[in-house]
Amino acid sequence: MNMDDIFSQFGDIFGGFGGFGGFGGGQGRRVVKGSNLRVRVNLTLEEICNGVDKKIKVKRKVLAPGASFKTCPQCNGTGQVTRVTNTILGRMQTSTVCPACSGSGQVIDNRPKGADEMGMIHKEETVKIPIPAGVVDDMQLKVSGKGNEAPGNGISGDLLVVINEVPHKKLQREGDNLHYELYVSISDAILGSSKEIETVSGKVRIKIEAGMQSGKILRLRNKGIPSINGYGSGDLLVHVNVWTPKTLDKKQKQFFESMIDNEHFKPKPENSEKSFFDRVKDMFS
Ligand SMILES: [Zn+2]
Repeated sequence: MNMDDIFSQFGDIFGGFGGFGGFGGGQGRRVVKGSNLRVRVNLTLEEICNGVDKKIKVKRKVLAPGASFKTCPQCNGTGQVTRVTNTILGRMQTSTVCPACSGSGQVIDNRPKGADEMGMIHKEETVKIPIPAGVVDDMQLKVSGKGNEAPGNGISGDLLVVINEVPHKKLQREGDNLHYELYVSISDAILGSSKEIETVSGKVRIKIEAGMQSGKILRLRNKGIPSINGYGSGDLLVHVNVWTPKTLDKKQKQFFESMIDNEHFKPKPENSEKSFFDRVKDMFS
C-alpha cells in the first residue's frame, strides 16, 4: 500500500468534500498532502544489473521546529463554511471550502522565524533509495512520504525518482539483452582462441572456435539484464568481428599472395553458416 492508497482512503473517510455531507463532526475536513518532489538519478549498467541503494540529497519542505497550529476560527475546524442564499426555489444552503484554512481545519498558531506562512522551512536531507535490478531509462520510482511535508495534520508528498541510464563503454542495451562487439585477429579466427570480456556481472571467457566466421553471434544465456518483473534475465549477444590487418610486412604479404588461389582460402559458406537475415530472424524468435 502506498501513500496514494492511504490518501484515497482518507479521501473516502473524510469524503463529503464536494457536498456529500458528513457523518459526524469534522468529516468535511480535507487531508492536505505535501507536494511531490522529483529527482533524476544516474545509474551505470552494472548498478542496473545488480540493483543498488542510492543515497540522494533532497531539499524538502519540512515543518519548522516550534511551529504549531490551532483550530481554524472561521470554520471551527470543519474545513467547510456554509452559506445560506435566497433563490427562487427558496433558501439554499451550500458548503464550500473554508478560505482561511483551505479546508484543512487548521491555521498556524506559532510561526517560527524563517518559516513561511505555513510554518515550513527548506531542509536538505539524504534519502536512501532502493533501486531494484532491471530498471529502464526514464522509468519513475516512487518513494512514499519523502516529498514535501504538509502543514498541520497533513501527510507528506512522495519523492519521484527518475532513472537516467549512463551509457556503457562496451555494452549496448536492448531491452533486457546486451550486445557486445568482439574483435578478433585473423590468426585467432583461423587457429581458435579464447577471449575474456567484461560483462555487467563480472568477466566471462569466450571460446573462439578454430575457423570462426566474422559476423557470427554468440549468445550467452542469462548474462544480460535481470527482468524488472523478476522473470529471469536477458542474454548477452557477442558479435564476432574478424579484424583484417590494414598493413603487412613484405613476408606476410608474400604469404597471403601465395594463398590467393589456395583451396582453403576460398569462401565456401555451408548451410550451417546461416545468412545474416536468418540470424536476425533467429534473434527475434
Ligand atoms: Zn477553516
